[in-house]
Amino acid sequence: MKLIEASILENIPKEDIKSIDIGDVTYINDLKGLAGQMFQYCIDNKGEALSAVQIGILETWFVMRTIEKEYAIVINPSYYQDGSRYRVIEGCLSYPDEGYVVKRYKRIKVDFWTIHDGDFIYQKESMMGYAAEIFQHETDHGHGKTIAQIGKKR
Ligand SMILES: [Zn+2]
Repeated sequence: MKLIEASILENIPKEDIKSIDIGDVTYINDLKGLAGQMFQYCIDNKGEALSAVQIGILETWFVMRTIEKEYAIVINPSYYQDGSRYRVIEGCLSYPDEGYVVKRYKRIKVDFWTIHDGDFIYQKESMMGYAAEIFQHETDHGHGKTIAQIGKKR
């Protein structure tokens, strides 16, 4: 049985997407429960990442596959360019079997919150290549932007 479904949610005003109140730890269990379902959805559908917005939850967080851990929960993400952009073809669980040419920064500096032992913890790091690409793609979802809006269909 499918618990969640990635839908095509276009033209969501950025103002309608709320950031997570990291002062409220009572929300952590709900987040973890949802993230678990989102991880499973990624595995079942061979996706690398999924944002809350894609399942109709208008909040700024997503799950993504990482090298170290299987998946990470990324809350209230930001990224800053660190170098030039390049063209890449990306897919999205909201647009199955479609590819879009988009421009991404090769290197970025990121900051976000994640969950560790029942607490929100702050993370800051540098990313490049594929991880950086996914981070930009998913952060864009949290701003109401999809590859169909910013890219060109292949
Ligand atoms: Zn996407």
